[in-house]
Amino acid sequence: MTKVPFFDLREMHGATGVQEEIDAAVLRVSRSGRYILGAELEAFEEAYAAYCGNAYCVATASGLAALELTLRALGVGPGDEVIVPAHTFVGSWLPVSATGARPVPVEPAEGSFLIDTEQLDAAVTPRTRAVMPVHLYGHPVDPDAIHRFADRHGLAVLEDAAQAHGARARGRRVGSGHAVAFSFYPGKNLGALGDAGAVVTDDPALADRLRLLRNYGSREKYVHEIKGTNSRLDEIQAAVLAAKLPHLDAWNDRRRTIAHRYTEAFTGLPGLLTPRTEPWAEHVWHQYVLRTPHRTLLQQRLDEAGIGTLIHYPVPVHRTPAYANHTPSPTLPRTERLADEVLSLPIGPHMSDVAVELVVDAVRSAALELGA
Ligand SMILES: *Cc1c(COP(=O)(O)O)cnc(C)c1O
Repeated sequence: MTKVPFFDLREMHGATGVQEEIDAAVLRVSRSGRYILGAELEAFEEAYAAYCGNAYCVATASGLAALELTLRALGVGPGDEVIVPAHTFVGSWLPVSATGARPVPVEPAEGSFLIDTEQLDAAVTPRTRAVMPVHLYGHPVDPDAIHRFADRHGLAVLEDAAQAHGARARGRRVGSGHAVAFSFYPGKNLGALGDAGAVVTDDPALADRLRLLRNYGSREKYVHEIKGTNSRLDEIQAAVLAAKLPHLDAWNDRRRTIAHRYTEAFTGLPGLLTPRTEPWAEHVWHQYVLRTPHRTLLQQRLDEAGIGTLIHYPVPVHRTPAYANHTPSPTLPRTERLADEVLSLPIGPHMSDVAVELVVDAVRSAALELGA
């Protein structure tokens, strides 16, 4: 029997008390008669830009669309290369491929899940146009290292912040940069009731270009300035996100408390590595990810104890059938090892202390048995 599910959105909305605010938002839009490009979208975009400490927010139909449209707005296209982390969700690579450019993977740093900023220079070629740091699991990539690198080579920086709403790096909010893409997929730290995304930027020209791209290349009905697409965030999702946004910091605080409890309880257990947090980083714990060579057995023991777990991600992107013909075929041993060793534990703002201690006890007894 499941005692602690990996993640349960119904419970998350119920236990945190936000369900009624979500219901009211949905009903308000349903009865408004306005469903696309209206006041709810404008209000959410303004609130989210302010939350990020930035000037503009352009919301889109998904996180993938936010990344792809930004790459297009930055002029990335066929023949170009974009540096991406090897260890990430496929959703970081696909938008690069969609523009006709080539994703060039870079391994994670030793002992980290994030792109190794010391290996970036070696990945640059005359075709490199941009670098895409991914703030994976909620931990930001070092902004100083990324900007030093990008400035050195004259590259654009597009941050994939799909897992890092509210995180801070060296005191600055993730989202305060030049071009930062978010996903509001339901399970993210800030999630809609369906697909949703956004780009946050300090650049009025980039924001303007994104507004055109997401709306058929048009700012005025039936005047099509460029070949755009349809990737608008609808009024219902905007209203739901605006209702949830004021809770985000408290929810991230709860995630942090749970993560600290896990790390305190698991540090030093045989055969387990707890996730590292840089001293300058304010982590928002989209996932709490352990590493262990006994992954299959640990997952099985936890399943028997009624604790849900997931693997983020079981197959490295370069090993997926979608990228089987990627040339040249990269050798990425650290990435492949992570795919074999990572295991994500339940975490979320709705989890009670009782649920957290059930996870702690189950992981401790399994690790002591397996590591012995
Ligand atoms: C969720 C996610 C995406 C894609 O976002 P969608 O809204 O699902 O399109 C991209 N990159 C990362 C790292 C993600 O976690």
